[in-house]
Amino acid sequence: MAELTPMRRQYKEMKELHPDCILFFRLGDFYEMFDEDALLASKELELTLTTRDRGKPEEERTPMCGVPYHSADAYVARLISKGYKVAICEQMEDPALAKGLVEREVVRIVTPGTVIDSNMLEEGRNNYICAICRDAQGTGVCFCDISTGECTAASFAGDGGEHLYNELGRFSPREAVLSDEAWSDPALLAFLRQRLECRCENGGGERFRPERARKLVNDQFPEGARALPEGDGHALQAAGGLLSYLYETQKTDLSHISALGYQTTGQYMELDLTARRTLELTATMRSGEKRGSLLWVLDKTKTPMGHRLIRAWMERPLLSPAAITRRLSAVEDLAGDAVGREELALCLKEVGDLERLIGRIVYGAAGCRDLVALAAGLGRLPRLRELLAPYPSALLASLREELDDLEPLRALIGAAVVDEPPFSVREGGFIRAGYNADVDRLRDVMVNGKGMVAAIETREKERTGIKSLKVGYNKVFGYYIEVSKSYYDQVPEDYIRKQTLSGCERYITQELKDMEHTILSAQDKITALEYELFCAVREQTAAQVGRIQRSAAAVGQVDVLASFAAVADEQNYCKPEVDLSDTVEITEGRHPVVERMLKTSLFVPNDTRMDSRENLVAILTGPNMAGKSTYMRQVALIVLMAQMGCFVPARRARIGVVDRVFTRIGASDDLSAGQSTFMVEMTEVAELLKNATSKSLLILDEIGRGTSTYDGMSIARAVLEHCADRRRLGAKTLFATHYHELTCLEGQIPGVKNYNIAAKKKKDDILFLRKIVRGGADQSYGIEVAKLAGVPDRVIQRAREILSELERDGCVRGAAEAAADGDGQVSLLDLGASQAAERLRRVEVDTMTPIEAMNLLFELKQLL
Ligand code: ADP
Repeated sequence: MAELTPMRRQYKEMKELHPDCILFFRLGDFYEMFDEDALLASKELELTLTTRDRGKPEEERTPMCGVPYHSADAYVARLISKGYKVAICEQMEDPALAKGLVEREVVRIVTPGTVIDSNMLEEGRNNYICAICRDAQGTGVCFCDISTGECTAASFAGDGGEHLYNELGRFSPREAVLSDEAWSDPALLAFLRQRLECRCENGGGERFRPERARKLVNDQFPEGARALPEGDGHALQAAGGLLSYLYETQKTDLSHISALGYQTTGQYMELDLTARRTLELTATMRSGEKRGSLLWVLDKTKTPMGHRLIRAWMERPLLSPAAITRRLSAVEDLAGDAVGREELALCLKEVGDLERLIGRIVYGAAGCRDLVALAAGLGRLPRLRELLAPYPSALLASLREELDDLEPLRALIGAAVVDEPPFSVREGGFIRAGYNADVDRLRDVMVNGKGMVAAIETREKERTGIKSLKVGYNKVFGYYIEVSKSYYDQVPEDYIRKQTLSGCERYITQELKDMEHTILSAQDKITALEYELFCAVREQTAAQVGRIQRSAAAVGQVDVLASFAAVADEQNYCKPEVDLSDTVEITEGRHPVVERMLKTSLFVPNDTRMDSRENLVAILTGPNMAGKSTYMRQVALIVLMAQMGCFVPARRARIGVVDRVFTRIGASDDLSAGQSTFMVEMTEVAELLKNATSKSLLILDEIGRGTSTYDGMSIARAVLEHCADRRRLGAKTLFATHYHELTCLEGQIPGVKNYNIAAKKKKDDILFLRKIVRGGADQSYGIEVAKLAGVPDRVIQRAREILSELERDGCVRGAAEAAADGDGQVSLLDLGASQAAERLRRVEVDTMTPIEAMNLLFELKQLL
């Protein structure tokens, strides 16, 4: 170190304090990176790598690369999105005034979970960071979005099991800080990193120590702002650990994180990652896009708060009929009033992101434009109150009360700042005239200064007789008098020559210097004064954080309720009746997304009746493509929507709240993936059987498909029996299967009923009627579906021949006959036929050569 330049030594010291960060080291107008950071950043950001000290041999040179300070945000964002942490090291004094080495300090560490710049954040999504701590008794977790100030803790017994995973899945944090014990759980780390793509950091043990955590939590959240119950040490530790990490990285005021919520089980419906994914709540399974998801259908929100909240509401439907009905009544108020809603929408559009604006203001990262935007947004609230006045529902009335337009604050901002302030707050020009006498006086001096320049120019022209004489200004020499070549001989004695250019000379005079001093010092004074005034207004605004956050939260709720109402009107949804009964009864229900996707045909509505007596388990059969999956998902979505407080796509619906919805989809018989997909399927089934209760709704689609026929059927049947058995699970279940043999269970097990989706043979084609009817499907129509899919006619023809031969030989029997065997046991006679069918099912006809087809026929015959 001794040989290093002082600046390099300073750099190395900073880097040693932040070894896990990429250090952005401010040098004048650039942030520079050195050594390994430079190698890494040049690769990740495609920057040119250069070196200092070119004179030295190559191996002694220091690699470096840099980015201009004014565009640094974009580079930081790219590094963050790749999972790195960036430490921003600023110059703490003006280099021009510094004696010796400029003082520098790391002012902030930007991490994926602590981003606040609006261009690094997705407007419609929260950006969470979480802390997890664990000991032998329990697990605590705390989530925070520092851009909005939202903060919530929860705790679980033991290692938290699937409840912890479900919470993590719901918040989907971008970054997690784990205590030593949590860090040593490989399954937890794998879940965070692989399933959630979350950056994980070992936060150690010290920051989670109970006494320390208690102190931090008590200091951050005043009495009354902490919803944590006394005895919950784990949640407290997690919250304290998270705060300590935030202080360490943010190094600034975080008073907008003003309330600590507490999550208890029983408040919300828990959804696991699989259910959320297969029901395509916020993204489609195939592309991961919003288009095609339930959110895509329901989200007509106009504000960023509404945008984020609707997602949150969808991911945690409610359980209390009273709370649900409160929302439904508000939606009903708005759904009946298209005109009022239109005006509401216009008004909401202009509110802006109050939540993140106040976040940035408290954080000290806001500029004048943010203040003006905040005041403008708050300025819409009186109108919003007016528009909400006519509605009788209790929820809208109480939200209206929460809207606080903070008139004095708006007046202050309006009086202090011009309507369209410049981007930077460091160069002045944004304080409104009349707000501060000193600013006005200094501006006067500057305006007069310009007049003085003009006056001097006119006077000097006259005095010297030089027509082309000009007074100009540049940064190096300040004000000067410029005289072109042909007039050199007329230049008076008192002019002092400063600069010679090709066609002219530049001079100064004492008078000019004096004037310059007055103007420039006024300029300096005014920028400093304007900045000071701005900071004072910003502080006064920050002091109102609580009221602004409450208003912003109310705006978000109004926005989501209005969005639900708009969709209900446009798509013809109905208000569901929600209660604590065990019944789900839907008349003419539709799938909210599929009905929007159909281009040429109309969606065929279907009824549903489920309860915990005769209608506990529905076995659903029918040809591929008939609409089984669509129907089952439609039932699940209608239940979820009702519990979100949203109207539902049906003519009538009565929903007894369910505690959870589970969906499991059988592994496709994709041979290349083989065992592993079946393993995934079975793991999911195992989880479901462990966690479902008699109040849950289960959607099981082709369970057992991923293995051989007999294995698969046995598993499917055993699972079904378990679900239907009230002494074991007894949960409402929709069970789609291609094992027709299972339809024999109706009549054998109480509560099981067969349904199928009707299809009709029309000559050799198949017509899907999409109607659910009672009874098992009589045929599987596999050949017709194959025809529909474009399998060549000759092959279809041959398949028909084989089928009729099989039927003639009595090898293929209807479900009713199979049932007659009692207990669904499959006789040996069926074995060959079934194996042949299985073999046929796997054939890829398109890619077969005629010889292969012949061989296959031979093989099939052998089986029979
Ligand atoms: P299955 O699960 O029986 O193979 P799907 O549920 O995947 O069938 O349905 C196949 C397609 O049929 C869907 O993509 C949709 O386009 C259409 N469909 C399903 N149900 C209906 C319905 N009730 N009305 C109109 N079209 C439907």
